[in-house]
Amino acid sequence: MIEELIRPHLRTFKPYVSARSEVLDAKIFLDANELPVGNPVGEGGIGLNRYPDPFQIDLRKAIANGLAVDPEMIFTGVGSDEIIDLLIRLFCEPALDSVTVVEPTYGVYRVAANVNAVRTTTIELNEQFQIDLASTLASVRPDTKLIFLCSPNNPTGNVLNREDILSLCKKTSAIVIVDQAYVEFANGSDDLARIVRELENLVVLRTFSKAWGLAGIRLGYCIAHAQIVSYLLRIKSPYNVSAVTSRLALNALKNRNFLVNAVATIIEERNRLATRLNALPCVVKVYPSDANFFLVEFQDAHLVFETLRRAGIIVRRRSEPRLANCLRLTVGTREENELLLSEIRTKT
Ligand code: PMP
Repeated sequence: MIEELIRPHLRTFKPYVSARSEVLDAKIFLDANELPVGNPVGEGGIGLNRYPDPFQIDLRKAIANGLAVDPEMIFTGVGSDEIIDLLIRLFCEPALDSVTVVEPTYGVYRVAANVNAVRTTTIELNEQFQIDLASTLASVRPDTKLIFLCSPNNPTGNVLNREDILSLCKKTSAIVIVDQAYVEFANGSDDLARIVRELENLVVLRTFSKAWGLAGIRLGYCIAHAQIVSYLLRIKSPYNVSAVTSRLALNALKNRNFLVNAVATIIEERNRLATRLNALPCVVKVYPSDANFFLVEFQDAHLVFETLRRAGIIVRRRSEPRLANCLRLTVGTREENELLLSEIRTKT
């Protein structure tokens, strides 16, 4: 079934074979036109004068081990943003195919589709910001190749019901992409990765940019059916993930305590911040959050935004009519959150 969803020309396409695609293990490398005399930066033995492993085998194994899935089910990209783009390019024929975007949600799904001249169908989440199964399923037409879901959802902060996600996967032939960029902040809702083994049209996106604290290295990954991963490996640029990124991510994975502690700190701060925000007269509603941010409705979001900006505090505005008067606030350190609260309390 996956094969049928892949763009026809990519089913038979011959990928670029890079110098390092085949032999990684040799005494002397004279195949890739690299500089043999080192490089000008101190680099901790990574060997930066050499190209990295194009298939990121060690990194994919380490990620897979942590999730108890096969490395063949892991694909790594330059942030999950690269993977969103690659999935669209793998499955969607420009001007012919379409993707469903379930709003309000992360803006890159739509932008990546637009860049690729792929049409989007918009379906609204219901009042509770949950999937409206009937309308989402009704949006699926023969040309719908992908459905983008985000859980916990950005910017609303809530986890989507697991049963709805699974039911959507079972009732449609389209690929259902569940972006779990913030899943580490949502207690106990990370088991979708293992379910990918049973549902070949489910793709789970994850990132090192949030709970791992490594937005700067640009590393995301997806957990997907091995056939989808093998196609992604064929269409990506030859050396997408750098040796520096790969090394730092491998180091991070050996230090899971960092993630556990960081998540605990953010959740504690999230709870505190919710209580404190709820007590402010200018706050209309603090939406419950399973992520490291809050969607907050204010009496006058513009005033709050401008006041915070003058104080050097940047938060995210929302433009959707449904989120008029809402701002998205990232949970910061205790000190940062205190400053945020005191600016809102005293100046708005
Ligand atoms: N998905 C969601 C839901 C996000 O909010 C973000 C970043 N804001 C991303 C993906 C992008 O992640 P990455 O840094 O891995 O490209």
